[in-house]
Amino acid sequence: MRGGRKRRGRHKGLRAGDGDPQHRPELIRWFWNQLVFDTHDCPAQRCGEPLERRRSHVLSTTGPDFHIRTHDETGERIVTEENVQRIRADIPRTMAIITGEPFRGRILDGARAASRQSTINIEFDELDPDLCGQAQVGAAVVIQSSALSRHEFDASGRGCPPIPVLRHEVAHAMGFFHVSYGGDLMSWLPEYVSDFSAREVHHMQLAPDGTAR
Ligand SMILES: [Zn+2]
Repeated sequence: MRGGRKRRGRHKGLRAGDGDPQHRPELIRWFWNQLVFDTHDCPAQRCGEPLERRRSHVLSTTGPDFHIRTHDETGERIVTEENVQRIRADIPRTMAIITGEPFRGRILDGARAASRQSTINIEFDELDPDLCGQAQVGAAVVIQSSALSRHEFDASGRGCPPIPVLRHEVAHAMGFFHVSYGGDLMSWLPEYVSDFSAREVHHMQLAPDGTAR
């Protein structure tokens, strides 16, 4: 498992007010290398990966099915119907941002995790208390169970509201990594950030050929 969203810590790098990074070529490259090649969490000098090669496994389709796991092994319900509906409503929009095309997968739910290829399971579990969620690229999203009871950030901008966590982790599941800028949802500590930034929307968009650009 990798790609967890941190609950606490400090931002590194740029903050809002440090200029306009979107229009500075070296910062666009820096941002892109973090988002696509994982240079924030895994710099090339540490992991020894050439930057030209994308580290993530990316799904063979831009339209995977999603399966929301609603019950645990004992048959007990682990997510309210209200939250299932909120997640169902958000997935097509989030996927349209990530892929740049209308969502064409299915959204299923049920007691058992799906084992089919090209299906992203959405699960709920008690994770490490420092995490709001986790993702397995191409396979699964796990949302911290305690996040389900609160839908907003707290007064200090902290917390794990489930829909922003869902968006962040689905982007990991689709092969994107952390960035170090404040104001981006894929920031490793996206306090107060509940949606993708304009530069994330611009740089994600896996469609039409399934490769990032
Ligand atoms: Zn993350």
